[in-house]
Amino acid sequence: MNKDIYLSNSLGNKKEKFVPLNKNNIGMYVCGPTVYDDPHIGNARPLVVFDILFKVLKCKYGKKAVTYVRNITDIDDKIINSSIEKKISIGDLTDKITKKFHEDCEYLNCETPNYEPKATENISLMIEMINQLVEKNFGYVINNHVYFEVNKFKNYGNLSNKKLDELIAGSRVEVSENKKNPEDFVLWKPSKNNEPSWDSPWGKGRPGWHLECSVMSKKYLGDTFDIHGGGRDLIFPHHENEIAQSVCANQNKSFANYWVHNGFITMSNEKMAKSQGNILKISDFRSKINGQILRLALISSHYKQPLDWNDKLLDECQKTLDKWYTCYVKIKSKILIPEVDLNPLYDDLNTPGYLANLHKLFDKAQNGDLNNKETFVTACNFIGLLTETKDKWLSYKKIKISIPEKEILSKIKDRDKARNNKDYALADKIRKELSDKGVLIEDKDGKTIWKIK
Ligand SMILES: [Zn+2]
Repeated sequence: MNKDIYLSNSLGNKKEKFVPLNKNNIGMYVCGPTVYDDPHIGNARPLVVFDILFKVLKCKYGKKAVTYVRNITDIDDKIINSSIEKKISIGDLTDKITKKFHEDCEYLNCETPNYEPKATENISLMIEMINQLVEKNFGYVINNHVYFEVNKFKNYGNLSNKKLDELIAGSRVEVSENKKNPEDFVLWKPSKNNEPSWDSPWGKGRPGWHLECSVMSKKYLGDTFDIHGGGRDLIFPHHENEIAQSVCANQNKSFANYWVHNGFITMSNEKMAKSQGNILKISDFRSKINGQILRLALISSHYKQPLDWNDKLLDECQKTLDKWYTCYVKIKSKILIPEVDLNPLYDDLNTPGYLANLHKLFDKAQNGDLNNKETFVTACNFIGLLTETKDKWLSYKKIKISIPEKEILSKIKDRDKARNNKDYALADKIRKELSDKGVLIEDKDGKTIWKIK
């Protein structure tokens, strides 16, 4: 397609035409999970958003032209603390959570990135970058620690669009007597007893978190690349620090040219946080609803906007997909999605606009011929929806019933008896019991019928 892609660039804070460094070799790096606890719905948003951006880039430039890298942070204070709390080794914990993360990605129908490097497999490259920063006088060594001296980098704060003193006032800066200035951040620190450690010129220790993304993006995409993505919460200090390290170590004008950030998820209009007790794990949904429902819910708002997560949203998405599946057909040959329908995705990944077009295509499919149905299903497939057969979609609903049919019929008999005896409390109780197990009952023409909720 000749149409240009536009993206909201946090660097400069405006929507810009996407111009790749090399249209045959486009690089996208997205900050991946810290594998210390089960991934939650907030983690799911960037997975789906950047999966769709990956698809759009491949659509425009060709499958082979795009390289998508997403790291796995497998060494970090949170991981060390969580392994102590859960009483399992760090290796077992990170393996377990990484496996769960991959299962969640599959459940959400996200493509696997081209590379998924782990921090612990790239420590030597991190030591190399710290050495460069120290040699070039951007880093300093004190008591087996190495720090980045922020005021040596004049563009610090450009991404978050804030001045240094505002940044310090607005965030929790780690206090340490070792630092020359409070805003300096750690590149290397000694490990405590029993904590994982690696040999380095500054003693046994481990790298600071920000460093891994600077190093692993360079390894796979080079000193300068096209797109860097992640959640809004990463802009400061993580992404600001990545830029400082990379630009100073590589002595390059720029690091990533386009910075794309997704907004937060709220829970029934409240902030989602561990302290609020409203964290929803992705894995908790797996036995209840099909992953496509979550995927549709996650793209129902524009990626830059906050997204409120609630039961009503999930119900609506379930209904939409139920409806859309009535026009499901198996796609046998390649169908082109009309350019006019794709337009919203090229315009800053406007998924609500694209979904509105899918509704229009559905209307045409419903009243049209096979060709209309194929176009509709292809357009759904493009954003990872309706990729399962209709049978599979329906079978997922069946697992919602946690009660055999024989038992349902016997319960309905008990309820009939209770109603004949005018024991409405018992009748209601039975109805509720069935409802809790995913079965809805309806009284029609003197008969009671049941269906899956
Ligand atoms: Zn990162």
